[in-house]
Amino acid sequence: MVSTANNWRFRPAYAMVNGGPDLAPNSAPASNAGSECGDVEFTREYVEALLNERPKRKDRFSLKEKCDCLTDYIRRLKPVIRWFQELEVNYLLEHEKLQNSLEVSELKRSEMDLLLRNKEEELNSIIAELRKNYAALQEKFTKEELDKMAAMDSLTRERDARLEIERSKYSLSDELERVQRDLTSAKQQNASLSDMYKRQQEYIANLQHYNSKLQTDLSAVEEDRKRVETEKASMVENLGMYRGQLQVSRQCQDDAIKQRDALADEVASLKLELKQARDDCDRHQLQVQSLSAEFAEYKESTEKTCYEWGNLKSKNAELEARCLSQSDNIKELQDQLVSAEKKLQLSDLSTMERKTEYEGQKNLISELRTRLADAEFKLIEGEMLRKKLHNENLELKGNIRVFCRVRPFLAEDDTEVKIISYPTSMDALGRGIELAQNGQKHSFKFDRVFIPDVSQEDVFEDISQLVQSALDGYKVCIFAYGQTGSGKTYTMMGKPGDPEQKGLIPRTLEQIFKTRQFAQQQGWKYEMQVSMLEIYNETIRDLLPSNRSSLERENGSAGKQYTIKHDANGNTHVSDLTVVDVRSAKEVSFLLERAAHSRSVGKTQMNEQSSRSHFVFTLRIYGVNESTEQQVQGVLNLIDLAGSERLSKSGSTGDRLKETQAINKSLSSLSDVIFALARKEDHVPFRNSKLTYLLQPCLGGDSKTLMFVNIAPDPSSAGESLCSLRFAARVNACEIGVPRRQTYTKLSDSRLSYG
Ligand code: ADP
Ligand code: MG
Repeated sequence: MVSTANNWRFRPAYAMVNGGPDLAPNSAPASNAGSECGDVEFTREYVEALLNERPKRKDRFSLKEKCDCLTDYIRRLKPVIRWFQELEVNYLLEHEKLQNSLEVSELKRSEMDLLLRNKEEELNSIIAELRKNYAALQEKFTKEELDKMAAMDSLTRERDARLEIERSKYSLSDELERVQRDLTSAKQQNASLSDMYKRQQEYIANLQHYNSKLQTDLSAVEEDRKRVETEKASMVENLGMYRGQLQVSRQCQDDAIKQRDALADEVASLKLELKQARDDCDRHQLQVQSLSAEFAEYKESTEKTCYEWGNLKSKNAELEARCLSQSDNIKELQDQLVSAEKKLQLSDLSTMERKTEYEGQKNLISELRTRLADAEFKLIEGEMLRKKLHNENLELKGNIRVFCRVRPFLAEDDTEVKIISYPTSMDALGRGIELAQNGQKHSFKFDRVFIPDVSQEDVFEDISQLVQSALDGYKVCIFAYGQTGSGKTYTMMGKPGDPEQKGLIPRTLEQIFKTRQFAQQQGWKYEMQVSMLEIYNETIRDLLPSNRSSLERENGSAGKQYTIKHDANGNTHVSDLTVVDVRSAKEVSFLLERAAHSRSVGKTQMNEQSSRSHFVFTLRIYGVNESTEQQVQGVLNLIDLAGSERLSKSGSTGDRLKETQAINKSLSSLSDVIFALARKEDHVPFRNSKLTYLLQPCLGGDSKTLMFVNIAPDPSSAGESLCSLRFAARVNACEIGVPRRQTYTKLSDSRLSYG
């Protein structure tokens, strides 16, 4: 058998022929077709004309002429073939070169990524530390401000107290002065009173002296009177005798009477004088008494004053002591004030220092921020370069690629006879597969061949680039094709409950949500929507129906049309289909479980669990970068196709037969579409099946398609495996357009929806 897998190698040659800028359209070969093909270049038209050429013979039965014609034809064909071979070699060389440059750029990019990430982490940690420092400084600053306020408060309080004390001191000294003045005036009064008292004493002494003199005078006058009385008596006695002498005596008597009258007058005047002296003495005595009372009063008041003075003195002493202690206090407070002021100055200084430090740190932060912005800008540039390189890389690999996966023998397989082998030549290592059937070996080559031992993780590693493309805004389709029991569902979904054996769908979602987190740091925001449907017997079924619609289905009154429509932007809308916004991989796995539950499962002889419907998982990704105003819109379709086995093998009849026919029809429609696209035919029969019509925008020229062809290794499946491999080889030989990324700088309808 001639492997059709080799046909794909001519694709670049055609591409060069068609796209070669140096060739004029419809030009014939530039040189003689028979000569060496060194510089010759051929146009597509020329080659097609050559291939379609019918020999023009005059004599249809002349063998010679026929031979000549053929020789000529072969002669013209040879340079073309040689030219193709040369082109192939050139192409391979160029491919290798591009691959190398791509690897170098990938390496550079990853280095740059690492560097940027390290830088960013470093900057983040510096910023965090600075923030912490700033917070600590702020706290210290506020604490010192509070201390300062408290010190100011106590200072003003102390000042007030000092002023109060000064005021009381002044009032006390005023009082003291007044008291001292009072004291001196009291002393003076006391002295003058003492003087007066002395003078009064002297006056009293004089009066007493005068009184005693008057008393002696009075007694002398009494004695004189007594002597006169006796003299009179003697004279009366002498009267008789002297009667005679009476006359004389009478005369003498008259004289004496006269003398006595004069003396009586004198006594009366003396008595008057004595009485006057007595009155004077009484008056003086009264005066002395009043003066004594006054003196006693003065003495008392002096004593009182003295006592008051003593009191005032002690009060004064007390006040002086208080004054002294208050001055001490004031001095102490003044000292405290000085030290507080010093402290205040110090804290002012430290605050200033802190302020300058803070300013410096602020500057540093702003500098770091600008550096961070620069780094982010570089990161965005790097990201753009990465996307470009990534896409170029995928384009080089071809926009429809085929991976072949062979499942291991299972316990239920009858025999472990090996009919599948893997060539180890340099050319085919990891890409070749050989199937032995009826003693014949069929060789195939794909973009990648996964042997049974390859883990789910390793398989995913090879398709993760396509997942990245969906995030970058491309439409991506991943199919699993193969007979029932070959491992399609295992490849797509994996084994539920075993994280090691998770399939492509859960792993894809994990990667998307992980990458989304990373992309968020570069300003990207993503919205995702999931829908899941199955196509069973050419009828669409929603696998995430709302409660009402599921009820309707159970009641058999499903009014849902599920009409497929494509808009001008290449977005597909299916009416009535449930579309769910998702924010985490967990949410999606919950939806997957729901979908698996509602998925229709039929029984065939081959695999009880085998699905007889196409399962289509669609994730729509809408990304906006706020910093660059870029918008991307990607679609990721993951399709678990229904079993591809032919009628005879599944042994179906009745409903099962109808199912199988529907499946076969849609699968052959899928291949028709792929081949029509590859041949660039004007009419591509997308509408021939629901599956191809649904996926139309994702299968056209601006998409990336990957087909897994799943193979069962057991000899009983050899026939089906061969069919699958042949189909896959034909697909692998196709080239479908050049993917066009769906990016916009502004998008009017940002919501993505089905229906
Ligand atoms: P399909 O979906 O094509 O009908 P399944 O995915 O259901 O096939 O696979 C059939 C059986 O084979 C399942 O039990 C699955 O677990 C097992 N299987 C398929 N591929 C692998 C693999 N690569 N490794 C281990 N078991 C596998
Ligand atoms: Mg399955």
